[in-house]
Amino acid sequence: MTDPSFRTELDGDGILSVVWDMAGRSMNVLTAEAIAELSAVVDRVISDDAVKAVLVSSGKKAFSGGADLTMLEGIARLYAREKGQHGEAAAAKAVFEESRQLSLLYRRIETSGKPWAVAINGVCLGGAFELALACHYRVASDDPSTRVGLPEVKVGLFPGAGGTTRIARMMQPQDALQMLMKGEQIRPDRARAMRLVDEVAPKDEIVGRARAWLLGAPKAVKPWDEKGFKLPGGPVWSKAGFMTFPAANAIYRRETQDNYPAIRAMLQAVFDGLQLPMDLALTVESRLFAKVLRSPEAAAMIRTLFVSMQELNKGARRPKSVPDTKLRKVGVVGAGFMGAGVGYVSALAGLEVVLIDQTEEAAAKGKAFAQKLISDQVAKGRATGADRDALLGRITTAQDYAALADCDLVIEAVFEDPGVKAEVIGKVEAALREDAIFASNTSTLPISGLAQASKRPENVVGIHFFSPVEKMMLVEVIVGKQTGDRALATALDYVRAIKKTPIVVKDSRGFFANRCVIAYMLEGHLMLTEGVPPAMIENLARQAGMPVGPLSLNDEVALDLGLKIVRATEAQLGPQAVNAAQKALLETLVEKEGRLGRKNRKGFYDYPEGGKKRLWPGLVELQQTRLDPDTLEVAELRNRLLVTQALEAARTVEEGVITDVREADVGAILGFGFAPFTGGPLSWIDGMGTARFVELARSLEARHGARFRPNALLVELAEQGETFYGRFARTEEHAVAAA
Ligand code: NAD
Repeated sequence: MTDPSFRTELDGDGILSVVWDMAGRSMNVLTAEAIAELSAVVDRVISDDAVKAVLVSSGKKAFSGGADLTMLEGIARLYAREKGQHGEAAAAKAVFEESRQLSLLYRRIETSGKPWAVAINGVCLGGAFELALACHYRVASDDPSTRVGLPEVKVGLFPGAGGTTRIARMMQPQDALQMLMKGEQIRPDRARAMRLVDEVAPKDEIVGRARAWLLGAPKAVKPWDEKGFKLPGGPVWSKAGFMTFPAANAIYRRETQDNYPAIRAMLQAVFDGLQLPMDLALTVESRLFAKVLRSPEAAAMIRTLFVSMQELNKGARRPKSVPDTKLRKVGVVGAGFMGAGVGYVSALAGLEVVLIDQTEEAAAKGKAFAQKLISDQVAKGRATGADRDALLGRITTAQDYAALADCDLVIEAVFEDPGVKAEVIGKVEAALREDAIFASNTSTLPISGLAQASKRPENVVGIHFFSPVEKMMLVEVIVGKQTGDRALATALDYVRAIKKTPIVVKDSRGFFANRCVIAYMLEGHLMLTEGVPPAMIENLARQAGMPVGPLSLNDEVALDLGLKIVRATEAQLGPQAVNAAQKALLETLVEKEGRLGRKNRKGFYDYPEGGKKRLWPGLVELQQTRLDPDTLEVAELRNRLLVTQALEAARTVEEGVITDVREADVGAILGFGFAPFTGGPLSWIDGMGTARFVELARSLEARHGARFRPNALLVELAEQGETFYGRFARTEEHAVAAA
């Protein structure tokens, strides 16, 4: 028998207290066992006359993060199994029956005839918030950690345990659709204003308030189960409905390019559900949910954005032999653009930070950046004045390296110059404890090369952040030739402490993410020089699922940096290593036109003061050929933009730069937004089949040249009928899922 998930106790007033407190876990999650147990509780509530009312709360710091998505992966496997044994129809039925269990359970709560109240502290998300929505009264704490919401769309699903149907009946349809499509985590005050919760109270009062409601004259019937219920926005087939639903479809298209079947199904569940009585509406929701659960997009997104990401966050790649490091104090040398951000995220995580720069003023400027960021959070109500003061109290500034003496880890973010970096390493090591770790945030210099300046190269590692540091969730941890396990483990422990996701990358040119990004931007540049209309390049990239087009992305990175990289590559590897057309384009833009990107408001786009950015009209003048858009093959253009990145990712696996396929997929989505619905570039290749991908790459190679040539590993996988996850999966689960 497994340990119980819920504790129950009946008091003298007939209130059954149900405390969700799963043994052996820090957070409550909906597992198959927990659902079965809750179902038994509901049976008791319905059958036991002594139970007059139910009060649900959590025994943990937070309420619950929602369903265990590996359970849903299990349902996807059930489909594959049933299909093999009993055929498609039987498999679809099995998935429908299995995946609607939670929805049916919540409906039993709602219609049990007895009032249910819930006290919510901390996060209450997904399936857990759907449980709260099924209750008759919700009290949330005003604690800063409290959030409610339905973030299922972020992993390729939608709320399928009644959440979609209930939300649609609780508010105006446009508000409901917006909430469901965004999948946001909502703070208590806003949740109250949206009537998602009935009351907000201090943390230690929520249970008392819920109890007070139960002891009053509670109504155990939801509005939609009462006679004469009217939808908040009126009937679907009405003037107001006509204003909402066609527009919702257009918004869906604009935001998703129709790449996300879950969001499309959710819109349908709302639209169809609002025209039906509650139980039928829930059945429709369940049918659509079962269909989405079987979609390749959901499988890929759950695997990469939930399972793999969680595994990496929990230290899947950490050397097991090294005991946990307790980081207390971190030094940051170079308090410029990146260093200031690193200082901020470190202090935000509760670490002591020493910011060092060439002058006191430069170091103070780095701290001022942290002050601005945390003050913005205070202004938005996301942090308190006390949080700000404590954070700033943890950051000290200095010019003298002696201040680094008791640091556990030092990260350098000085100028990208090997000489400057070597000097900094010498000075830092002279001040630092012998067992402390030195990390470089370099984007282009090999870590093994920098380590030559170190007396303790086994303590040197790369910690490569992406900008803006405070927003980007990915960090590449770079392992040099001599990097020791302790340095790697410390870097991973640090990334975990600042709540970002690490991928471990072998020391090599461009590491992982930048290699793929450079390939993506090159493709955009080449399309431009071929004569493809600039707007078309950008729009097709978004249609392919990228968050921004290659030209827009290059503007953010800076065009002069792009040119610098091309020239450095040429100097190191020779003229055949760069693309002449790209080099000429960047030279013209940077050196002739003075267009550097967003930073000087002039790049591929113009950035008018106070206005919206728009493509620079002069781009067309630079095109020697101008192709007629009606003659272009849009599918091929879209494919080029994704295939070039996926090929680069495949090469990093062959070269051993990436040794774990999960890292390529997670890194690509978090690092540069590779079409998330695909689950990442390797999942995308596996999803279409390695043989089909090789065929696609070869057809592009025939038309556009050697950059599309599939590498030997890909060809081998294709010939053997294998996939990346099939061959390289690190866990049993992935091997099964890939089968
Ligand atoms: P930056 O010019 O904004 O900051 C560099 C800082 O280092 C400056 O404040 C400078 O005064 C200080 N500095 C220089 N020499 C120093 C020395 N000897 N001792 C102490 N301080 C010194 O540059 P940045 O954009 O923050 O880049 C810093 C590093 O981060 C580089 O290695 C770069 O490749 C890497 N990086 C940059 C980005 C990015 O998007 N800018 C992204 C990832 C990594």
